[in-house]
Amino acid sequence: MKKVSVQCRHVRLAYGKTEVLKDVSLDIQPGEFFALLGPSGSGKSTLLRLIAGFNRHQHGEVLIDGQDVSPLPPWQRNVGMVFQNYALWPHMTVWDNVAFGLVERKVDKATLKAKVGAALELVGLSSYGQRRPNQLSGGQQQRVALARTIVIEPQVLLLDEPLSNLDKTLRVQMRQELLAMQRRLGLTTIFVTHDQEEAMTTADRMAVLDKGVVQQVGAPVTLYDEPANIFVAGFVGTTNLLPARVRARQGGALTLDVAGFGDVQLPAGVQAPASDTLTMGFRPHALQIEAANTSAPLQGIALPGTVEASEFLGEFTRYSVRVGSHALHVDHPHQAGGAAFAVGSAVRLGLEASQVRLFAG
Ligand code: ADP
Repeated sequence: MKKVSVQCRHVRLAYGKTEVLKDVSLDIQPGEFFALLGPSGSGKSTLLRLIAGFNRHQHGEVLIDGQDVSPLPPWQRNVGMVFQNYALWPHMTVWDNVAFGLVERKVDKATLKAKVGAALELVGLSSYGQRRPNQLSGGQQQRVALARTIVIEPQVLLLDEPLSNLDKTLRVQMRQELLAMQRRLGLTTIFVTHDQEEAMTTADRMAVLDKGVVQQVGAPVTLYDEPANIFVAGFVGTTNLLPARVRARQGGALTLDVAGFGDVQLPAGVQAPASDTLTMGFRPHALQIEAANTSAPLQGIALPGTVEASEFLGEFTRYSVRVGSHALHVDHPHQAGGAAFAVGSAVRLGLEASQVRLFAG
């Protein structure tokens, strides 16, 4: 099957006076698994429905395989969409649900039988053809919805929060299955989610949206390590964000006045926007934690604090540590018999300067 690209060029869409998509441009590569990630109301579904042809934009272009599909209705775009609620026909068997799109297209009986059989096999439901949707688990219904979409051999697969109705364990299993299937078919896939873990674990690349504006596009690791702005830093993973003022710049090195910390020296090499008012960001695992009353060596910038809360998460413990006016997230890797820090205890934190990112504003 030919792998196709999907592009949005300067797309704007408003409902009445409310602009929902503001100058959205995206370049999705042929065969890519691409996630649209953002909080509720950021415009993800609107953008997906626009690519499908269910929504109309007022400005810009949507191209599939280089062709502007803006004037085309959904059924002429060669896209398949799986909705959040699966939208299966309750009175039809699994087989008939999957066959529906082919029957509509008046495909001959032998082809229909072969294609429906192959689609059901692909999602592991070959022996479930005669069941009705209400005789299936949530995960199986989800697979039927996928089979029904894939059977028409779309060039682009659009998935709108396809896993959100499933419980956590099934969601993790289904996202692996989905990814494996997408890889087998090499089908350009656009996946909407508000769950950053889901996006990070599956997507080749992702776009983060906020208020109808694309904030950043890139591979999950790029967005995590090099967030372009405060919104992305806060939305993709957990980040400590602290307001800071520049007190001095000496040949690339910076002295920052961080509210509640006093002066913080950052060596040359930490990228700093030109503004004098900045936000300093660092991940919870960029902080080392030691008890205040030990002499264990600390790396980086030393910060004294008090443990206010702790959450044991298995692989690590996430502490909330009060440092001046800030409550910092600190992740400490867990080892059986390793150090734990009680709520109320005094600790010392070490902040690795190379892990600090600075944002304008
Ligand atoms: P997301 O998928 O990121 O949760 P949506 O694309 O569903 O966000 O919605 C984006 C914004 O557009 C929201 O503020 C929503 O209220 C608004 N919106 C969505 N559909 C319509 C509609 N048919 N009429 C008016 N406003 C809408």
